[in-house]
Amino acid sequence: MKIKTSEFVISAVGEDQCPVDGLPEICLAGRSNVGKSSLINKLLLRRNLARTSAQPGKTQTLNYYRINGEMYFVDFPGYGYAKVSKSQRQSWGKMVERFLRERKPLRLVLQLVDLRHPPSAEDCAMYEWLAHYGFPMCVVATKADKISKSQWPKHAKIIRTGLRMPGHVPLVLFSSETGMGRDELWSIIAQACGI
Ligand code: GDP
Repeated sequence: MKIKTSEFVISAVGEDQCPVDGLPEICLAGRSNVGKSSLINKLLLRRNLARTSAQPGKTQTLNYYRINGEMYFVDFPGYGYAKVSKSQRQSWGKMVERFLRERKPLRLVLQLVDLRHPPSAEDCAMYEWLAHYGFPMCVVATKADKISKSQWPKHAKIIRTGLRMPGHVPLVLFSSETGMGRDELWSIIAQACGI
């Protein structure tokens, strides 16, 4: 995918602020600190478009980025941040749930997990919850550069098993440091958007 333009559009606090032009949307979900901002920046070849959040888990907004005028990335707030209150957690859940239920242009959900660790209980719950909506999904295992190549298959298997991913759901090993997985992920995204 050749990136001609990428721009931040809006931090939407609810669906009524989301774009209405119907361009395909790719959602990104993942625990705070999993590497979501770094992945967005790497995919878009931008240094600092998706800011690495100073207060992880506190921003309860859906951040929209428009790419090449032909699709949006929708960055969900990171989940699983310990200092977030129960009521904030519930409002997160409600916002995301409403979005997933009602958002017609949604084409693909990317769930990010850390390749180094087995999926957390929250990762598993999130995967199950997202899969339940029946959207096309892709799991992205981040920070692949932090473990040796010989360990990748073992860790990939732990993630597949931990999340109970069916064989047809793709798992992409990714590194924002080296660019590993970038082309593979773009081809999955492009296919989902019909580009
Ligand atoms: P977010 O909270 O999910 O948006 O996570 P960030 O993108 O802010 O990343 C959290 C931390 O992990 C930062 O210190 C990043 O530099 C680091 N990080 C993210 N992705 C990678 C990666 O692929 N490789 C390495 N080595 N570090 C990464």
